[in-house]
Order: sequence, then C-alpha cells, then structure tokens
Amino acid sequence: MPAQSIALLFVAAAIALLWLAVRYLLPWLLDRDTAVPEGAVHSVDILERVAAEGSLRTDSWQLEPSHRAPSDPYTPEQAHIAMQQHRDCGTDLCAAKHSAFWTLVDAGHAVPDARVER
Ligand SMILES: [Zn+2]
Repeated sequence: MPAQSIALLFVAAAIALLWLAVRYLLPWLLDRDTAVPEGAVHSVDILERVAAEGSLRTDSWQLEPSHRAPSDPYTPEQAHIAMQQHRDCGTDLCAAKHSAFWTLVDAGHAVPDARVER
C-alpha cells in the first residue's frame, strides 16, 4: 500500500510540474520570437527598401543626373575619372560608376571578382 501511495504522489507531482510548464514556461517560450528589439526595422520595410533601390539601378532616369550612365560609352581615361568621382557610390546603385567599372574591365584595367555579374 505505501508503494501505491508513493507512486500516486509521483504522478500527482508530475502532473503539477506539467501544468506549471504549460501555464508559465510555454507562453514564455512562444513570446520570445515575437519580441522585437528597440530600434529594430521590420523585415517588410527592409524588403521594400531593397526593391526600391534595385529599381533605381534599372531606371537610370530616376537617378540624379551626375549618377546616370553616360549617353556615349566612357573611354578608359574618362572611366578612371568617373571611378574617382563616384568612389563613395556602389556599382549596383550608381549607373555612372557601373558603366565606368565595366569600361575599365573591358579595357583590361580592372579585374572583377569572380562572383560579380555584369
Ligand atoms: Zn555615383
């Protein structure tokens, strides 16, 4: 009889621990993923910004005139100057720097990273 009482006590304790886990631990675990750090940017905002910046690259008329691709291709000398003038620009966003960079590549003055696509 005492063995049955001890077993009953263990089962009751196990049920109590399970109830505590479901009541307090589970909600805490589920809420951890939804907590957003202060100052965090939502992923939707990031995706919208990347899409907007990507559209600048293909719609060069939206760029400021100084960052637009030239109407006539750069000469290698002009490309060197353009690369210096646009040193703070990215080749993926600035059509002028993109054109200058690939002019230098075509002239053999620059070697692109193997991962870069034109
Ligand atoms: Zn630029």
